[in-house]
Amino acid sequence: MYLPGYYEYSCRVKIVAGHDALEGIPALLRHVGARRPLLVTDKGVAGAGLVDIVRQAIGDRLEIGAVADDVPPDSDLKVVHRLSALYRENGCDAMIAVGGGSVMDTAKGINIVVSERAEDLMKFSGSGALKRPLKPLIAVPTTAGTGSEVTLVAVIKDHERHLKMAFVSFFLLPDAAILDSRMTLSLPAPITASTGMDALTHAVEAYYCLSKNPLSDVTALAAIRLISGNLLKVVRKPSDREGRLAMANAATLAGMAFSNSMVGMVHTLGHATGSVCGVPHGVCMAILLPYGLEYNRHKREVVMGELLFPIGGPGIYGQTAPEDRTNRVIAYVRQLNEDLHEMTGGRHARFLGEVIDREGNPAVPRERLPDIARTALGDGSIFYNPEDLDYDDLLMVLEAAWEGMPLDSGRIRKG
Ligand code: NAD
Repeated sequence: MYLPGYYEYSCRVKIVAGHDALEGIPALLRHVGARRPLLVTDKGVAGAGLVDIVRQAIGDRLEIGAVADDVPPDSDLKVVHRLSALYRENGCDAMIAVGGGSVMDTAKGINIVVSERAEDLMKFSGSGALKRPLKPLIAVPTTAGTGSEVTLVAVIKDHERHLKMAFVSFFLLPDAAILDSRMTLSLPAPITASTGMDALTHAVEAYYCLSKNPLSDVTALAAIRLISGNLLKVVRKPSDREGRLAMANAATLAGMAFSNSMVGMVHTLGHATGSVCGVPHGVCMAILLPYGLEYNRHKREVVMGELLFPIGGPGIYGQTAPEDRTNRVIAYVRQLNEDLHEMTGGRHARFLGEVIDREGNPAVPRERLPDIARTALGDGSIFYNPEDLDYDDLLMVLEAAWEGMPLDSGRIRKG
């Protein structure tokens, strides 16, 4: 619930960052009394050789109890239960998650099941259901996007019901986050682009949503500065280790921001689009971010204008009239999507009608927009958006985002 002036901020996660940060894993696990972790990952991450790099860095200083490498995109309720059984059968006592948000959130889900001896993970969905600390978890992000390595959130999909469920608790914060530049060098350009836009969205929504606070502001602004200086660089030159580390830091900073401020309508609509049409989270964020800015600007003109400082630097910020700053921020986000589209050979989608699925078919048929709008009404992030949204408002935004047209300012609710 949003109460003006009141906030809580917590990030107990130990962050270890650098070009050889992985080497610290055995000591970190020993420190929390764990000796036999389950390593959770997915086929894409393992296939890129990243599990081998982690194993090499650990050497014989730690015994891996088992490796689970079949986490699907967006995680999965059934997989969480199956991997929880694997954890128990192999006498594991901790977890190392090596992957993007899908893997890290799966590990958080397994952690709930094994720590709480839960028969049904869904009983712990929503906020505040967890009452005590879970097993040790070390998160090694291999995308620079979700920030799940420092968030109190897990998003787990029930693929059968086409539902993405959120779990929110301070006990879901991992014990440590390892940001190692080796982990994102292999990330393909379109995923680098969309996950980078996910991190940018976390920071921007954290900065203008209702429960922004002085501490989330600091990490959000730092994240935006790093992303605007490095996202295009790493898409252009994937082997840029400094740029990769900067993006990893940015995603973590943005995660710290939104984990302590929440987000708004970009996530409301993005979660719903992901649930109904299976579009990857970062792709939804990239497309919808300009619409979140446009829809809320009458409530947040000054705050949004401040974002020009980390985006453009003090020179551009100082030379831009205050009433033009928000226009420039929105234009920057739109141009960033255009540049990423061009640099990825058209694989970074700019509007919902342009997104294609794995088979090359349109991923978001226009006739599904009403379903998405209805699903979005049930998403908790809607309560933190500065301006209210009902079904018609959500559909109006989705229709504009489907075509890639700016919002008709005359149709925006002005509450
Ligand atoms: P992802 O984890 O689904 O990974 C996307 C693809 O990239 C996968 O195929 C994976 O194999 C591949 N990949 C990942 N790292 C790679 C690397 N270094 N080299 C080569 N391939 C690599 O994508 P994501 O965007 O990181 O995570 C999305 C999920 O995270 C969604 O389910 C979303 O809802 C959730 N999420 C969670 C939070 C949170 O706070 N818990 C926040 C935002 C999003």
